[in-house]
Amino acid sequence: MAVLFRDFYYIDAEMGRAARGDLLVEGGRIARLGKDLPEPPGGETVRGEGKALLVPGFVNGHTHAAMVLLRGLGEELPVMEWLQERIWPVEAGLLPEHIYWGTRGAVMEMAATGTTCFCDMYFEMDEVARAASERGMRCCLSRGLTGDDPAKVQEGADLFRRWHGRDHITVQLGPHAPYTVSLEAMKSIMALAEEIGAGVHFHFLEAEWEPSFIKEKYGLSPGAYLEEAGLLGSGPAILAHCVWFPPSEIPGLAGTTATVAHNPSSNMKLGSGHAPAQAFLDGGVPLSLGTDGAASNNRLDLWEEMRLCALLHKGALKDPTVMTARDVFRMATLSGAASAGFSDVGLLREGWQADLVMIDLDRPHYIGWDRENIVDFLVYAGSSSDILGTMCAGKWLYRDGEFPGQDHDAVMGEVTRCREDLLRRAARRQP
Ligand SMILES: [Zn+2]
Repeated sequence: MAVLFRDFYYIDAEMGRAARGDLLVEGGRIARLGKDLPEPPGGETVRGEGKALLVPGFVNGHTHAAMVLLRGLGEELPVMEWLQERIWPVEAGLLPEHIYWGTRGAVMEMAATGTTCFCDMYFEMDEVARAASERGMRCCLSRGLTGDDPAKVQEGADLFRRWHGRDHITVQLGPHAPYTVSLEAMKSIMALAEEIGAGVHFHFLEAEWEPSFIKEKYGLSPGAYLEEAGLLGSGPAILAHCVWFPPSEIPGLAGTTATVAHNPSSNMKLGSGHAPAQAFLDGGVPLSLGTDGAASNNRLDLWEEMRLCALLHKGALKDPTVMTARDVFRMATLSGAASAGFSDVGLLREGWQADLVMIDLDRPHYIGWDRENIVDFLVYAGSSSDILGTMCAGKWLYRDGEFPGQDHDAVMGEVTRCREDLLRRAARRQP
């Protein structure tokens, strides 16, 4: 159905100042931008009255959506103890239906906080694809591959063949990390990615010990490892975290297909440190923003990540001029979409996908905003509670506190049941 946004302000990462006018959505795309556009016959007209703003939908650059089922487990434990005693035993009991309902829960949470696309790495990814496509949320999926099991690699390639390009979905191959996948396996996965034309998504240098692990095992620096493994191929490459990426090797990443997915909340909550994000930006390496899984964040709120990212690097570098609101806005929208392999997502342009967040500016914390400073107001004063609606490819995912086309109580019930079931299964396996 066509939707006309009448008299809205709107801004994206490429616009210097907010514009005011009408935006027509037709066939899932932004069909027209202008003034006094005619109302679409049989369509919906939403009135902004100059008190509401449209921005592109946020892209969660790195997450494990179904981990919402593991939220809150083992809080504030040392990382290895947290993984070995609280997370992995529960994950071992995950069934396809848990992944499906966990993702449905995550999709609700993301839609309510303005996310219209998420880059997900987990397993049973057909369930993730099903959950996202049934709700109409865009996503970029990768089957997390560990060990050298060719069957899992095949699963990743099969997922690509089944879903890539279908229902707002892209698929990448997902070799989990250099410490869970051998260099030889990494090379063969990358060769396969090149052969089928897939991008790649992997964890890189999240923990402090990882650079020395790579050095000891392969005699390579992180940059040389990426080159040796062929990880920067022709498709988009998402490098999640890069907390311990050596700044001296950043120039080698510039001009490649790599996007660093920066996950400030998760990295801080797990005590991992923080990525040299400003150095990546200064070096011309694109950054996206991610939440990581809800077990280590514990929110799936990209707006929160924007604010935290802008504050964190100012504080760490003792410099209020770095990591601007404009920088994080671009990371959360256009750069994230590009990392997911979408070339017409992330800007408000005619012909681009209608992935939109509708924001209420008629609130006390927006007093003083203008067309030039609106992005600063969003990042520093605003929050996702200002969101009136979230639309992906022209379809409302969230509107005025509700999720159109979804039985809220039924979904909440299923997600709750899956969480309880998982915890019961984990408890049964305890010695
Ligand atoms: Zn992760």
